[in-house]
Amino acid sequence: MRCPFCQHDDSRVLDSRVCEDGTAIRRRRQCPMCERRFTTIERMQMTVHKRNGIEEPFSRDKVIRGVRNACKGRPVTDADLALLGQRVEDGLRARGVAEIPSEEIGLAILGPLRELDPIAYLRFASVYLNYDTIEDFATEIDRLRDESPDRAKSSGRKRPSKQDEPLF
Ligand SMILES: [Zn+2]
Repeated sequence: MRCPFCQHDDSRVLDSRVCEDGTAIRRRRQCPMCERRFTTIERMQMTVHKRNGIEEPFSRDKVIRGVRNACKGRPVTDADLALLGQRVEDGLRARGVAEIPSEEIGLAILGPLRELDPIAYLRFASVYLNYDTIEDFATEIDRLRDESPDRAKSSGRKRPSKQDEPLF
């Protein structure tokens, strides 16, 4: 790998170790020209198979963009979204599979999003779980009420939300 300091074409590996969760390898490298050291991380690339047959590399940013739409007008910060993106990616990586159908990414988002914000969760779930009827919403809302009575009762501001096209 090219040296990030002097752009020399090569570097040598001094040390390799597997990260704690086993999903990545960290390598300590040294440039033979300038002798400076740097670290690289090697991780499996997760490939997403979309419904239209297209494959693309998994993107945490894309997860965050999709969730951000559902969070419009909700008390959710960029830090909350970044953490959610990390949880979704960590969860998917922990499965140890290289290829993921796009629908499973939507499903992997649901758990962390339900904990983050129940309204954003309902918006998101209505798209990804294909809610057809009012009863689908009612069932899900009952479930949320059972899980956290205090949070479901406190209503935030009401504003109309346009349902966006699913990203995945
Ligand atoms: Zn160098």
